[in-house]
Amino acid sequence: MERLFSFLFFLVLTVTAQNVPSNHKPTENSVGSGRILNYSPSSGQDQNTDVKIEDTYSNPSIDRRYQDTAPSNYNLDPGPVEQDKYGYEFKYHDFDQMTRFLRETTAKYPSLTALYSIGKSVQGRDLWVMVVSSSPYEHMIGKPDVKYIGNIHGNEAVSRELLLQLIYYLVTSYSTDSYAQWLLDNTRIHIMPSMNPDGFEVSKEGQCDTGPGRYNARGYDLNRNFPDYFKQNNKRMQPEAEAVKEWVSKIQFVLSGSLHGGALVASYPFDNTPNSRICKSSALCSLFQNYASSPSLTPDDDVFKHLSLIYSTNHAKMSKGVACKTSKGFLKGITNGAAWYPLTGGMQDFNYIWHGCMEVTLEVSCCKYPPAKELPRYWEDNKVALIKFLSEAHRGVHGFVMDEHGNPVEKASLKIKTRDVGFQTTKYGEFWRILLPGVYKMEVYADGFVPKEVEFMVVNEHPTLLNVTLHPSQYGAYYPKPVLLPSISIMQVQKPRPVYNVTGDFAFPQD
Ligand SMILES: [Zn+2]
Repeated sequence: MERLFSFLFFLVLTVTAQNVPSNHKPTENSVGSGRILNYSPSSGQDQNTDVKIEDTYSNPSIDRRYQDTAPSNYNLDPGPVEQDKYGYEFKYHDFDQMTRFLRETTAKYPSLTALYSIGKSVQGRDLWVMVVSSSPYEHMIGKPDVKYIGNIHGNEAVSRELLLQLIYYLVTSYSTDSYAQWLLDNTRIHIMPSMNPDGFEVSKEGQCDTGPGRYNARGYDLNRNFPDYFKQNNKRMQPEAEAVKEWVSKIQFVLSGSLHGGALVASYPFDNTPNSRICKSSALCSLFQNYASSPSLTPDDDVFKHLSLIYSTNHAKMSKGVACKTSKGFLKGITNGAAWYPLTGGMQDFNYIWHGCMEVTLEVSCCKYPPAKELPRYWEDNKVALIKFLSEAHRGVHGFVMDEHGNPVEKASLKIKTRDVGFQTTKYGEFWRILLPGVYKMEVYADGFVPKEVEFMVVNEHPTLLNVTLHPSQYGAYYPKPVLLPSISIMQVQKPRPVYNVTGDFAFPQD
């Protein structure tokens, strides 16, 4: 019966998708080169376009050929990148050059890319996001959306260029590389090369460790600017972080990488710890935050470790535990964020706790802003890792929550039993959760329905498709809503190490 409802559900959506009004079709941008998706009617929009990113969720395309397993003939090394008239040059792209490159890409590859801005920086620079997918303008029902964000610290410049190169690589490899083709056919990849374009403009090539540009134009660290689960974040929210916050609330991202520089490590949540709550004064807190490093583990620790290892072991040297000048080496090239150093207001904890998006912080270069001539080497070191990491969105369980008539149930709350960080269904009733092989139980709760618990198995080879049908609750029946955020009381509270007596000069870690 579930299959029948599922089929009817698809049928209805197929008809809907074919009736997309013509005014939702993308139009040419007046600048001339490349089309731009209009993200939001509020800020950061291009007035010359009429496609909103929200609409890409409203008018989904349906591809029944979902191939959820990567091809086995995995070959990501076709040799040197061919440079044609349109090309990526290994140099640092300032804001105008980056914008030009992105627009040229959408002009040259209109069926694989879409460009949109999620808002503007303090100084008015667009926060560009490039979608790379075989369905760039439309969400593909049942297929995951993933993202990369680079250059959140403006002087960590390698991340910005790696993501531009990644865009170039994906579009130019689509027709020749079966793995890239599979990835783009089955995933919508949203790439934001720079979350801090103002900071980048004032940072200096060749400055490896310190230097201007880390913060946004008002002097805020954007990776300390998000709501924090463990401790109230009193920092004034900045437009760049605000834009990201709104963005991740509109699109259900399954997997995300936040790219940084200054170390070689994949660092996973939590960045903050329940211990941070005991901080009373800000001076003590600084000391505490930076020196009382101990693991702060999520209920999905196995998954986060796995995701981090996927990156580090596919990186040319990260898994070897390479130490940098200002950062130690890490066993297998991975670490729990708080075990390295705890911080409040980080982006990865926010993604995970508030939106069920598995985000890992990827520290991709020892030197934050190395000479441009070294960029080809950084690309070679990170290329395979960047691509393999994204394909992990196709691991675990995914499916639909529907009512008895096959209608999608939006905003159903879900959680994997014993993992108290929950997630929600999209407006099409879709859900995803990355899980390692094993047997799991998932609890499904939605207002007006009888809660349900379903058991399923996850295997290594392909994601498990799980459709859940909910039945309406009897009039007056009450089912308590499950608590989905982790409860501090049930989480393992780590005892802090003794606070170090700090004498003389010391530097807070800044990676
Ligand atoms: Zn950083």
